[in-house]
Amino acid sequence: MSKEKITDIAIIGGGASGLAAAIEAKTIMPNAKVVILEKLDRVGKKLLATGNGRCNLSNTDLSEGHYHGSVRNAKRIMQATPSAKEFFGSLGVLCTADSKGRIYPRSNNAATVLNALRMRAEELGVIERCGFEANFIESGDNYFRISTASGEKYPCRRIIVAAGGYAAPQFGTDGSVIRLLRSKGCHTTKICPAVAPLRVRPELLKGLKGVRAKGRVTAYSGGRFLKDETGEIQFTENSLSGICVFNMAHLISRFDGKLTLRLDLAADMENEQLMGYLRIIHFQRGKHTTDELLTGLFQRNLAAYITKRALGKPLTDKIASLTDTDLRKIAQLIKNMDFDILGSAPWKDAQVTSGGISGECVDDRLQLRSEKGIFLCGEILDIDGDCGGYNLQWAWSSGIFAGRNCAESLRGASL
Ligand SMILES: Cc1cc2nc3c(=O)[nH]c(=O)nc-3n(C[C@H](O)[C@H](O)[C@H](O)COP(=O)(O)OP(=O)(O)OC[C@H]3O[C@@H](n4cnc5c(N)ncnc54)[C@H](O)[C@@H]3O)c2cc1C
Repeated sequence: MSKEKITDIAIIGGGASGLAAAIEAKTIMPNAKVVILEKLDRVGKKLLATGNGRCNLSNTDLSEGHYHGSVRNAKRIMQATPSAKEFFGSLGVLCTADSKGRIYPRSNNAATVLNALRMRAEELGVIERCGFEANFIESGDNYFRISTASGEKYPCRRIIVAAGGYAAPQFGTDGSVIRLLRSKGCHTTKICPAVAPLRVRPELLKGLKGVRAKGRVTAYSGGRFLKDETGEIQFTENSLSGICVFNMAHLISRFDGKLTLRLDLAADMENEQLMGYLRIIHFQRGKHTTDELLTGLFQRNLAAYITKRALGKPLTDKIASLTDTDLRKIAQLIKNMDFDILGSAPWKDAQVTSGGISGECVDDRLQLRSEKGIFLCGEILDIDGDCGGYNLQWAWSSGIFAGRNCAESLRGASL
């Protein structure tokens, strides 16, 4: 194979981690030919949709508890790479954190993040090759050949696989490269949508579509407490949504699909405080019908839903007819509203993949153990973070780390 035809580093996937990997690799090895092979017509399409178009690119609290999966050295990788603020600062993107520690570009605009990444990649001489869908990797003695289904071949010395997982296939990520890596000796952990709404029986949500309420969500499996989180809960026709629900989705695969979410819709009130409130309202509104009992505590649809579900009877009776036991049932439901989870929302509604290529398949440089010269980064690996900037932080850190190690593995080679 003639030398000039071989690319030094080919990166499969031009998303968050692929762009970070390309910039780092080319910074370290300016003479290396670095090419991003992206299947869509342009790189970074998913990035534009992140954070509702604002790109929540990291978080001030990066403690390990926010990450789940089998990549054991994730914390070390994040410590060994610049923080998102430093990395983006070096690209001229200023960042700010909100009151919950979520870091955004100062522009509040995801396009500025993507543009800055692309500008730096271009300044360095990284080549973007869009419309190239990697379908197969052939290994030669000193090089690889990445090919498309139509037989186009791309020879290269090293590969960084940054092709994401299964979540949000509308942005190019359909898990096909995970399947490709299986043929390279990789194994995967259990895969399911994460950072996603959770499905419940639609009849349990009748009348709640579009309702939003503040509360605490606690996850249980077989009665065992798993975790809890407070925030806004959103109800749809057939699922529970909102960040505090999204962050429970990764538990489904880990607890064999046996998951119950308990909502406390008055997390700021003790039981007896809530009972005291209900008794006062019971006294004051006695001549009104029971559909008005919770007016002032919840929005109309939710108020009616709770009273109906707790008492199991129509809302046409007078509030005065309710007994103290009825009020207790209502208080009990407000603080302990259980939903058995049927599963996650489909991939198109999920933001992240829980599971992926097992951490056991890569060494501590993120290089495949079964095939030297191939490095992995981003969501394709079995690691997912909570909602709040954690997944993009992993994409930047692992991309930079894989880009650096991949470039360094070429040191001494005549490029
Ligand atoms: C709607 C939405 C909002 C989100 N918001 C946030 C947020 O605010 N904060 C946060 O931290 N995380 C967020 N995420 C998650 C975050 O975007 C991902 O975790 C992150 O982009 C993963 O980076 P990656 O480089 O691994 O993969 P991706 O960014 O998904 O990039 C993978 C790239 O590989 C390409 N590709 C796939 N297969 C092939 C192939 N065979 N050949 C060539 N190219 C291929 C794809 O087209 C894609 O461009 C959000 C996700 C979604 C869907």
